[in-house]
Amino acid sequence: MRTIYDVVIIGGGPAGIATAYLCQKHGLTYLLLESGKSIFQGIANTYPAGKNVYPSKPKEAPEPFLVEELRPPDKPVTVEKYIQYVQHFAQHENLRVEVDIQFEDIREERDILVIHTSKGLFRARKVVLAFGSSIPKELSVYGDAKMVAKTVEDPTKYVGVRTLVIGGGNTAADVIISILKEKRQLNDNQPVYWAHISEKFDVNKETAQRLGEEILLGGNIRLLPGATPRIGEVDDEGVDRLVIRINEFKQPDGIEIYHAMSFPMKHVIACIGSQGPIPIFDKLGVQTIACAEGVCQIAKEGDRLVLLTAEFESTRKGVYVIGGAISPSYMKISSGSIQEERHPNLIYTALNDAYHVTEAIRKKLGRSEADTKP
Ligand SMILES: Cc1cc2nc3c(=O)[nH]c(=O)nc-3n(C[C@H](O)[C@H](O)[C@H](O)COP(=O)(O)OP(=O)(O)OC[C@H]3O[C@@H](n4cnc5c(N)ncnc54)[C@H](O)[C@@H]3O)c2cc1C
Repeated sequence: MRTIYDVVIIGGGPAGIATAYLCQKHGLTYLLLESGKSIFQGIANTYPAGKNVYPSKPKEAPEPFLVEELRPPDKPVTVEKYIQYVQHFAQHENLRVEVDIQFEDIREERDILVIHTSKGLFRARKVVLAFGSSIPKELSVYGDAKMVAKTVEDPTKYVGVRTLVIGGGNTAADVIISILKEKRQLNDNQPVYWAHISEKFDVNKETAQRLGEEILLGGNIRLLPGATPRIGEVDDEGVDRLVIRINEFKQPDGIEIYHAMSFPMKHVIACIGSQGPIPIFDKLGVQTIACAEGVCQIAKEGDRLVLLTAEFESTRKGVYVIGGAISPSYMKISSGSIQEERHPNLIYTALNDAYHVTEAIRKKLGRSEADTKP
């Protein structure tokens, strides 16, 4: 029998984990899908090492923290400590979490929502989107470039092979530094190719200094400015490959002359930045509204804001959006009018959204207090 969950939650940050915890507490069947290697991957990727996490609460907010169990402590702890605490909590509570799964789309099958992911389909009555505000961009090549990594978790994977890093900024440079360091320690002289679509690389002074140091210590790096990634092909041996075109000349008669290099995708890392969730809302058919002149206080004119009910349900029935994904503001539909609603990107907001959305879903699914664990 195919499982139909009451709720599938996308994203294992504070909003998603709190929703999973509350679903469990109230006897709803649920599954949380996280694209990273473990929960809180979004926070692990964006906070600098050793940063303190504060239990910040906007002054004007009337409610206390509604999920005390996940609230950062009053005496600030480092991000590493907070992540460790939440991971233990999720384990202790036995939360149903699957990691390393990328959410892709939602379709409908009668009144059931079918969630399409990198690892197959899941079915649910309700979906809670809690994927945060910063979504890694996909490489825009024809064909499937899903196997291309976006960060380096284990630089030893790239020792002994020629590696391609795509992207012209600090993140790409940092990735190269970590690989060069590893290669140096293991006496590997295979180069790291650094490709960027534009002619100019753009890193800050401090990163440039660290990169320079690695080069002077013997780091083998080859620059590929003005390079464009192209079709991911599969070779005779079934290896997924990514082609990078360099020195491209377009002839007036339509002929293109170029050099190209083809890398196994598993040796490619693309650090091409992140984007807000609007392209995902568009893909899902979740309605957004552009701020007209003088209408929005927080968003700028022309910014598109997602349209949600007071219970965070989007214009797609059964699909809710919470947490950083709807910050710094969204358009709230209530009593027949639509107004911009402030929504600070804080752990406080993410946890309290989780509380409200779980309450709304329980009501809609007709679940009573009798289902709740004491
Ligand atoms: C540097 C920094 C410092 C901060 N310090 C504080 C602080 O001290 N106190 C505070 O209250 N707030 C702080 N914040 C803000 C706080 O971290 C966010 O408000 C909070 O993380 C939002 O939670 P979220 O669950 O909505 O999103 P996130 O924490 O971003 O979690 C979203 C999760 O979804 C996953 N995901 C994304 N796309 C997909 C997909 N397609 N499929 C599956 N999973 C997906 C991500 O990997 C991620 O784990 C800080 C933010 C930053 C950047």
